[in-house]
Amino acid sequence: MKTKLGLLYGGKSAEHNVSMQTAMAVIKALDLNKFDIHPIYITEKGEWIQGPQLMGPVESVKELSFSGASSTAPLAFSGAVEKGEEKSKGFDVIFPLLHGPNGEDGTVQGMLELLNLPYVGNGVLASSAGMDKVIMKNIFAQAGLSQVKYTWFIRSEWEKDRAASYNKVENELGYPCFVKPANLGSSVGISKCTSKDELEKAFEEAFQYDRKVIVEEGIVAREVEIGVLGNDHPECSVAGEIIPKKDFYDYKAKYEDGNTALVIPAEITEDQHNMLKDMSVTAFKALDCSGLVRSDFFLTSDGKAYINEVNTMPGFTPFSMFPLLWKHTGIEYPQLIEKLVNLAIERHEEKQ
Ligand code: ATP
Ligand code: MG
Ligand code: MG
Ligand code: MG
Repeated sequence: MKTKLGLLYGGKSAEHNVSMQTAMAVIKALDLNKFDIHPIYITEKGEWIQGPQLMGPVESVKELSFSGASSTAPLAFSGAVEKGEEKSKGFDVIFPLLHGPNGEDGTVQGMLELLNLPYVGNGVLASSAGMDKVIMKNIFAQAGLSQVKYTWFIRSEWEKDRAASYNKVENELGYPCFVKPANLGSSVGISKCTSKDELEKAFEEAFQYDRKVIVEEGIVAREVEIGVLGNDHPECSVAGEIIPKKDFYDYKAKYEDGNTALVIPAEITEDQHNMLKDMSVTAFKALDCSGLVRSDFFLTSDGKAYINEVNTMPGFTPFSMFPLLWKHTGIEYPQLIEKLVNLAIERHEEKQ
């Protein structure tokens, strides 16, 4: 019997468009002899509708008329829940192909837990802890992982005394530093600052996306990433290096220019690879992850590694780092999707 796969894509997030690209790639790659695909599109406003199969340009989806078709999240699943006992009619597994807040952050995962549906990827705790860069870094610090220095602010605190916030950054971190919305991805809202002027602009920008902002010491380093796959016994991929042609790996470099070089496998020593794998597994376990993560590191010329972050639903087109890392490790894109589906079902069964 075919696996009924509910594919969630789009999302009320600044990473909406990235998710659209990913969904199209996944739908194209799925073996229709094995999977019965049910696309569910979440509009930028947060409406849930039965989406099309997304075989064409993603822009056309946004132009569809949604009159009468929209619903709130739980309603979109009511059919699946009512018929839950009758397995052939309900969903076997959900793939939340969503990035950023309202999708990668535990909210959708919580709903799926309540509906008792198996779903691909990380659970509520890992998703929400991994989405908030401050919480994530605090947990990593406790797990003994090396990181660059960081500090954070909430909007009201900054608005009350901006000068104090900038002083704190200058005293604790200095320049260059990176200002980031605490809960986002794809480099949206991130700025590199080398002066007070830039710092002020960067805070304005980052606070447009979040009420919490993290500032990190800027580091001169290579950027190396590892894919992690599994539940209780996670496995690591080969390492990949990002070589941005610009100042840093910003949104444009990721999705628009297409001229960032990905070097896979990264030219690092076996010892360095082992160190990054160990750190990846430590991070995975510290956040109690499941399914997948992509862990991002800075590697300095003196051989030290600092963890930057993990992404609990990393970019997932066939040309994104995570699938490419696994391709070079021996798992092709369609198999990778099937592996994730199996891990989702395994995790769900273990909980029952
Ligand atoms: P994604 O989830 O798409 O990986 P993100 O929005 O979570 O991205 P980060 O990975 O934290 O953002 O940062 C984006 C990029 O900015 C990094 O890949 C790197 O090029 C640069 N960068 C971020 N923090 C620092 C830092 N502390 N020092 C030097 N460069 C940094
Ligand atoms: Mg990220
Ligand atoms: Mg991300
Ligand atoms: Mg990153």
